Order: sequence, then C-alpha cells, then structure tokens
Amino acid sequence: MTERYLKNSLDIPSINDANPEKLDHFVKFNTEKILFNYPISHYSRDYNVYDGYAGIAFTYFHLHQLNPNLTIAGDKVGLLCTTYLSAALSAAKKTTTKHVGFLISHVGPLALAVVVYHTIEKNSDEALNYMNLILDKYHHLAIKEDSNELLYGRAGYIYALKFIQNHCFDNEEIMQKLTDDKIKEIFELIIVEGQKGGADSNSVEKPPLMWSWKGKEYLGAVHGVAGIVAILLQFKNLAEPYLNDLFQTMEWLAKNAFENGNYPSSLSNRGDHLVQVCHGAPGIVPAFLKIYELYPTHAISSTLLSAAIKSSDLIWERGILKKGLTGLCHNSLGNAYSFLLLYLVTKNEEQLSRALAFGFYASQWEKETEKKRVKVPDRPWSLWEGLAGGVIFWGDLSTVLRDVKTNMGLTVSREKVLGFPCFTDL
Ligand SMILES: [Zn+2]
Repeated sequence: MTERYLKNSLDIPSINDANPEKLDHFVKFNTEKILFNYPISHYSRDYNVYDGYAGIAFTYFHLHQLNPNLTIAGDKVGLLCTTYLSAALSAAKKTTTKHVGFLISHVGPLALAVVVYHTIEKNSDEALNYMNLILDKYHHLAIKEDSNELLYGRAGYIYALKFIQNHCFDNEEIMQKLTDDKIKEIFELIIVEGQKGGADSNSVEKPPLMWSWKGKEYLGAVHGVAGIVAILLQFKNLAEPYLNDLFQTMEWLAKNAFENGNYPSSLSNRGDHLVQVCHGAPGIVPAFLKIYELYPTHAISSTLLSAAIKSSDLIWERGILKKGLTGLCHNSLGNAYSFLLLYLVTKNEEQLSRALAFGFYASQWEKETEKKRVKVPDRPWSLWEGLAGGVIFWGDLSTVLRDVKTNMGLTVSREKVLGFPCFTDL
C-alpha cells in the first residue's frame, strides 16, 4: 500500500524568528479565498458546521473572538459571521434531520445562532427564539437518538448546550430555559448506554464504558469513546458520580495504543493505518489533554498526558497527510493541534516549534496541491475538511506565538479560547 503521508523533512523553526504577523497574513489571505470561492447561494443546502455555511460562520465567530476589529475584504468578521449564519439557517430549512450532533445536524447552526445573536448582534429576543427552537424541536430527538458520538449523536448535542452556556451565561432568559436538568437528562442516557456497551464490549479486558456507532466500537474522537468521554468530563458536577468509570475507560483506552503511540480506529479494525483527528492518535491527544487540564491532580491524568506526549512523536512523523493540508478532520492542520495543545499544557517549546513547522508548511497548500503532492479535499473551503480549518489553526497559532513573545506565554491558555470546535473551545 502506498503511504498515506509525506515523509516529514520539515525544518524546525526557531520561535524567536517566527513572526505572528506572518500567521495573521495567512488568516486574512485565506479567509478572502474562502469568501471568494465559497460564496452564499440561496439554493444551497450546505447548512452544517462540519462542511457547510455554519462552519464558515463558526470560523468568523472565532476570528471575532480573537479580534473583533479584523476586517476581511472590507467587512468586519462579526458581520461576515452573521451573513454566513443566516445562509446556514436558511439552508437548514430546506433539509430535515433526525440527528442532534453539533457538527452534522441542525443543532450546530441553531446553537451558533443563540450565541451569535447574544454576543455579536446583542439581540436577546432572537437568541431566545433559537434556544426555544433547539429545546422544543431537538431535545426529544436527542432522547430518542441512537448514537452517542460527537458528529451526529448525543455527545455533540450536549457539547452544543455547553457551548451556549459558556457564551450566554449572562443572559438570564436563556439560562432559565437551558437548565441543568435538561443537560442531565441527556448526560445520564449517554452514561447508561455506555455502561451497557462496556458490559457487552468485544474487548478482552472490558472497559467500564463503551459505545458503538453503526455496530463498531470506535476508539477515537469523532465517533468513539475518546470524544464522548472528553465531552462528558466537561460537566464536572454531572460527571462526579461516574468519575471512576470515566477515568478507567480512558486508562483502558491509553492501554490500547500501539507501541508507536497510534491507536486502532475501532476494536474490529486494529490496523495501524490512520493518523488523523477522526481516526487514530491526533483526535485522542486533544481529548486526553482536555481531560488533563480539567483534572490535573487525578491519578490517571498523568498517564493520559504521557500517552499524549508519546503520540506526538508519531504525529510529527506521520502527520503530513496526502489527503489534504488545512482541514481539521483528516488533514495535516487538524493533526497539528496536538502540538499546539501540548505546548500549552507542558510549555515544551519543541511542541510549539512543531506546530509552527506544520502551520508554515500548510500555508503553501496551493503550491503543494499543484505539484500533486497533496490532494484537494472533498470540501476544500470547509471547516472540518478544508481551508476554514486552517484559518482557525493559524489564528490560534498566531495568538499563542504573540503571547509567548509579549507576555512570555503566561496568559493564553487561561484567558484566550482556542477554536478547535468540540475539543479546545469549551
Ligand atoms: Zn475525517
């Protein structure tokens, strides 16, 4: 089989010489590319966060959080955010979905609408309307939903509710609607199914919690146990009674690593083929690091941190993917988040240098695509598969680098929100 990755011969850039303004230029230049190449069509049904208009709106929302005065082709990023969000909401009306995940269902654009109307538009009535729409129309679907994973399922739904809580905590009307009981109802369903799945698991050593998606026990971030547990642990009060099971499940997962630090995509597919956020180590590293950050003193957290550090060497070696450079799901810059997050947690500058190396290299995506060294992703402008993912990464990398240069790296991890949706932005 031909390799899925390019041999990594990147130079390690010096942090002193790296210039955040160069990264800001990548953000601006590439956001203009998206604006030009992926304009709004009123006939489109591209509503979702994963690869549609809501993903572009999410990207502008994140840029607005980083710098509300940023303009792209003459317009402020906040205005571009609401424009793409409106397109996503109209496109969603042309489609139906039974699913409830943040990334691929109507819940994503609706949750973003609650947050954007509250924070950017300062229109509480509209924000409340969208909150009511989610709870009236999608909450009972979340109860009936048969998947628990991040993309379509219940973990994605409670992520959406947490995203709203984090951004709208100062809006009393929304907080009165979005009660802890509502989240608890779904949280407990995920736990109950996880306990059943653990007891029925095909694993020789059964984990306390396990979920299946389409009949397979996935291990990774997008459909699997790593992504679900990382979301559940965000809800500290609700997670408290199940903390042992949640951590032991993660310890079990860390034991499933190959010698080289990669992970099988599922229990039934144990090949060491994929090194990408959706399958393999690059999705598991952000999940482990999020858990470590939330519970730094828990006995198992240090095991998760060591496992993440081990995986980072493999991601450096095999993380430049021929599938594409800039997307988050199965492209190189999704993989590069492992380095950026590891730097923030450990302050090991080698990890920041690796993030810079991937970031600078991926900025040459047009040249590399023309040379046919890498492919054009299926959805080349989108957030999870294409260039918008790169925009978020370069924005975050610039923020971290500038902080290192001006404040010795002391403020970013605490005060700035990184924008890899479902992993770093809570
Ligand atoms: Zn993928």
